[in-house]
Amino acid sequence: MKIEIIPCLSDNYSYLIFDKETDTILIVDPSDFNVCDKIIKKYKKLDYILNTHHHTDHVDGNLKLKDKYNAKILGFEGDKDRIPGIDVFLKDNQKFNVGNLGFKVIFIPGHTRGHIAFYFEKNKVVFTGDTLFSLGCGKVFEGSNEEMFNSLNKLKSLPSETKIYCGHEYTKKNSNFCLKYDSNNHSLKEKIITINSKLKKNLPTIPVLLGDELKTNIFLKCNDPNIKHSIGHKDYSDLEIFSKLRDLKDNF
Ligand code: ZN
Ligand code: FE
Repeated sequence: MKIEIIPCLSDNYSYLIFDKETDTILIVDPSDFNVCDKIIKKYKKLDYILNTHHHTDHVDGNLKLKDKYNAKILGFEGDKDRIPGIDVFLKDNQKFNVGNLGFKVIFIPGHTRGHIAFYFEKNKVVFTGDTLFSLGCGKVFEGSNEEMFNSLNKLKSLPSETKIYCGHEYTKKNSNFCLKYDSNNHSLKEKIITINSKLKKNLPTIPVLLGDELKTNIFLKCNDPNIKHSIGHKDYSDLEIFSKLRDLKDNF
């Protein structure tokens, strides 16, 4: 499995997946037809379009790509009325094979009510859209904080060597927030050095390892007594800490 990162719009990432053995090409969240098509052209075909959720910055290339390459569009069944051109209605926990590749659908509502992740278990890769970012998580637009918290916990339970490919390059801004409330975290400080050097060279900070995120992403550390202490609510439940952090981040 080869993955090409395609920067789109101001800070979106689309991803092209190539399975060489079977000559199968997939794209995850095509934000922009022209930008994605420039990459797809090299392969001369596109078999599948995978959408994590219905927001325009993740589906805007759907119809033109489907039209040009006759690709099949896969999205969550609950969003069949909101994902342009959808052909295949995916269910939570459903396993789906594409060429020699296989992924599992993980239903992770919160950012939107129909958000899913694509988990390629054998390849140890997960596409998390706008739910889990490097050092952050998505805004809670349609669901509740509790749903988002539970969705992040689902992703937390994947093997720590899983590579996370998310929908946006928000890492730097997220790191500033993490540092504010987790200022003694050495792993975080080391990570920030790496982030800065990548961004300086105009490279994506993505993918990241789940194991590293567990140590550095404050939204995955709501059970950490140090974090509870640092935001001044030692007695809060993990969910209350999550809600507080989400609130602070929304106004950061
Ligand atoms: Zn979104
Ligand atoms: Fe987005």
